[in-house]
Amino acid sequence: MTIIHVDMDAFFASVEQRDNPELRGRPVAVGGSPDQRGVVAAASYEARRFGVRSAMAMAIAVKLCPGLVIVPTNHRRYKQVSDVVMEIFRSYTPVVEPLSLDEAFLDVTGSEKLFGSPETIGMEIQRRIEEELQLSASVGIGPNKFIAKLASDYQKPGGFTVIPSEKVLDFLTPLPVEKIWGTGEKTVDRLKRVGIKTIGQLRELSLDFLEGSFGRYGRALYGFARGKDDRPVEPHREAKSIGKEITFPEDVGNMEELRQTLRALAEEVGRSLRRKDIKCGSVTLKIKYPDRQLVTRTERLPEPTNLTGIIYGTAGFLLNKHCKPPVRLIGITCTGLTGERLITLFRDEKQVREEKITATLDKLKDRYGEDVVRVASLFKKREK
Ligand SMILES: [Mg+2]
Repeated sequence: MTIIHVDMDAFFASVEQRDNPELRGRPVAVGGSPDQRGVVAAASYEARRFGVRSAMAMAIAVKLCPGLVIVPTNHRRYKQVSDVVMEIFRSYTPVVEPLSLDEAFLDVTGSEKLFGSPETIGMEIQRRIEEELQLSASVGIGPNKFIAKLASDYQKPGGFTVIPSEKVLDFLTPLPVEKIWGTGEKTVDRLKRVGIKTIGQLRELSLDFLEGSFGRYGRALYGFARGKDDRPVEPHREAKSIGKEITFPEDVGNMEELRQTLRALAEEVGRSLRRKDIKCGSVTLKIKYPDRQLVTRTERLPEPTNLTGIIYGTAGFLLNKHCKPPVRLIGITCTGLTGERLITLFRDEKQVREEKITATLDKLKDRYGEDVVRVASLFKKREK
């Protein structure tokens, strides 16, 4: 088993520095203002040099670093960038477990035949994040999650650390026990009280002793000290977004053809939303150009929908506005998924009608297959 852990470097702060060139090279803290009891959500490396850390009170951060530039948190923006990062991960393996917006585990055990060794995949991911997003990430590769996470943290920023199985014990021995993922302050304090500061020293404690002191977690600690961790990488089951994309066999320069493809994609995405009885709040158009440059543009909807027409209308608007053909890949992703039934007092009559027609068409398609749609859309055209 080989696990890759990718962790973006100073993520929120780096996104701000990328998008606002005047912030580059300056100490930046993303978060709330000091006079409103704000907290640091992320600090740039320039700010970290002064001791500014995330989760620190902004008032303290300002004292540590007098020239600190405070930037308000823009979660929506970071989420958008995160979606692209996760998309890059998922292009190498479906087994991706995000831990937060800016880090994830990837199980690449089955990906070697298609994409090369874990090292190749790790380097490729790091390079693509740099090229496509102008951001930096640290990569750790190891035989399990525990080791991969320690490895990505080993040489930040821009780190690339591979710990093969036979090097695991040497790697762990000098590391302080607080590096063990999941150890709280309490555990660390108790270990220090019995003179255990490093993972090497922890390895000298017996399983009986650890279980006696820490219960079930003691057994995990016993394994961690030996570099053992058999937790699988668990891809999130509930969908955060629903999307479809198509890579053309040959680059497409014809806008009409792109619009038709988009229409078909909108229909597929709309249908999966309707099947799950959910709606989306935003529509993202994704375009990849022949030079592999990836562009995504998102439009927020005035109200959630699962109607093909609205999804297509929104994606088509973004296509007209942003697309410069020829195009290699085109896709639609719907995000901001909501399952709640919306209670609207004044419903748009036209929309209610379209919802009814759509539901009928879906039922027909389920019963008679996709061909019936073509008949129905021809019928609709004639109706006009
Ligand atoms: Mg990070």
